[in-house]
Amino acid sequence: MPKKFTPEKTDNGSYISAGLNAKQFNQLFNKIEQAQKKNRRNAKRTLKPSTLTNPTSKALKALGEKAKGQRFTKDDLIKFDKARQRHKEKYDSRTAGVTYHFLVKNSREIDVKRANNRVDDGSGITSANLYAIKNNVALVNVKASSVSKHQHHRVKVRFEQWDELLQEPPNGDYNKAVQLACAGRISFDCDCGRHQYWYRYLATMGNYCLAPPKEFAFPKIKNPELSGVACKHVLKATTMLQSLAWQRILATQMKQQAKRVSYGSDNKAYFLNEQERKAAAKNRKTKVDQDAARREHDKYMRSQKAMQRKLDQQKRESERTKRQARKIRKQSNKIKELNDMLKMGFQNFHDGYKLQGKSKQEAITDFAKMMNVTPSKLERIVK
Ligand SMILES: [Zn+2]
Repeated sequence: MPKKFTPEKTDNGSYISAGLNAKQFNQLFNKIEQAQKKNRRNAKRTLKPSTLTNPTSKALKALGEKAKGQRFTKDDLIKFDKARQRHKEKYDSRTAGVTYHFLVKNSREIDVKRANNRVDDGSGITSANLYAIKNNVALVNVKASSVSKHQHHRVKVRFEQWDELLQEPPNGDYNKAVQLACAGRISFDCDCGRHQYWYRYLATMGNYCLAPPKEFAFPKIKNPELSGVACKHVLKATTMLQSLAWQRILATQMKQQAKRVSYGSDNKAYFLNEQERKAAAKNRKTKVDQDAARREHDKYMRSQKAMQRKLDQQKRESERTKRQARKIRKQSNKIKELNDMLKMGFQNFHDGYKLQGKSKQEAITDFAKMMNVTPSKLERIVK
């Protein structure tokens, strides 16, 4: 049995996280996460969803003051609710995660500056390290700024497209698959105050929150206009995740997971071995570049539009196939013709799904439904 690890505290009451090995570090931050959850449950004066939709005067009073001698009003809450709706729309809350470039593009300039250590008040940060991978979540240790009372923070990044890419890596290339996963839709969490009080609510509403913990209390004082996305730690960690130095390590794990996926994935974290730690430390992609992110995001939006046009066209073709199939089905002697048509129609349909990063299985299920045949029959036909 490994010796039980008991974390110690510094003089200012925060935990000592320097000098721990990766497993101890992770245990410590699990403990911090638990304690924060408990604190949030006991938090007073938070703006709950029920108050936002039904601001009784008693509930308004319970919120405390927005400034000295000023109480929150119904109008404030209407404004807040509008901001919340806008945010949900902007971040497409029906789909989990936010792409890396969108995250950087919409971040506050000050967070970017701090992530790049371009501030002179000591709030800048300098380094981060990938230390473990748990299923589709990367765990990153980020050194706190020199003015922080903490020594480190833990950033968790979940790759929302990981499972699809694991099943169908492009041309069987896991490096490429991981590269797409890192640039693609991600959800995240950080234990720092900035994330907790400014951004976790936004992440929860926008559906890019790595939960638990979720945050349903509107940041009525700190960030009522709901601007920004990520704290400096998340910016640093996600930027470094765009580097091959870390992606190679993730790719090895993706490959391992692909091998064992038929037995059910296990829930244990994989901690980097010494060789991997050394390789990870060579990551030089540390600068968050907002201009580049804007350009890349525009490019991405253009390609999304082009993809949508193609998908619309494919949809029309599928409809045509469907109509023809119905006609042929009436003439029972034309089974081969029907099968040929389904086969061709499926290829076209599957191409569209591939563009969206969806799996063949999903394409079979949906196309079969559309064409009114069983998935197993369709599978036999298109084999
Ligand atoms: Zn943070």
